[in-house]
Amino acid sequence: MRRKQFLRYSAMAFGAAALAPWLTACGGGGDSLASTTTAFTPTTSTLAAAPKSTAVLSQEEIAGLKFMREEEKLARDVYVALFNVWGAKVFSQIALSETTHTETILGLLTKYGIADPAVGKAEGVFEDPNLQALYNTLIAIGHPTLMDALKVGALIEETDIRDINVRKAVTNEADILQVYDSLLCGSRNHLRSFNSQLLNQGVAYLPQVITQAEWDAIANAPAETCGK
Ligand code: MN
Ligand code: MN
Repeated sequence: MRRKQFLRYSAMAFGAAALAPWLTACGGGGDSLASTTTAFTPTTSTLAAAPKSTAVLSQEEIAGLKFMREEEKLARDVYVALFNVWGAKVFSQIALSETTHTETILGLLTKYGIADPAVGKAEGVFEDPNLQALYNTLIAIGHPTLMDALKVGALIEETDIRDINVRKAVTNEADILQVYDSLLCGSRNHLRSFNSQLLNQGVAYLPQVITQAEWDAIANAPAETCGK
């Protein structure tokens, strides 16, 4: 996807207000983008249409959903930032997938009447201080070289896989489990994408969060079609 197309897509997905400072900061934008952002309207119709659940979630389940809402946003925000630094298509493509992931979790928050920790948050801004610190660290690590940026991608995906599995373990709700499984499937595909990009650069990535055996099992399996 060309950079300008991606900016346009981002404007639709993230909202004009959140995107404005980012565009200013990187000197991007342009005539066509301005007209696109003016026409922006939030696409929450499907979320609003989802029936409210009467199920009562545990504090662990609620905390898990709020955390994953922000962790998926972190993945997206880091990839958008690294795309702007390196222009590598892998970042813009996976950022779009992470947008879907964070919005899918938002759908569950809405369904269960849980406050959204990401509401009104600009790119790179998080309620959870640990995720804020992680974002800042990852952006710094990904700046020096494209190889470093690709390693950040690999690290995000293995972290995501671990963290979703932790949240999966504290719920029995079928709809939540289904979403977590779909996000895990996406993360495995993303891991494969970053892994092949790193191999193309001559780098054999050493996993930091999951075991080497877990990494190899995912990396050596073919890409999957992920349900929703
Ligand atoms: Mn994801
Ligand atoms: Mn991912």
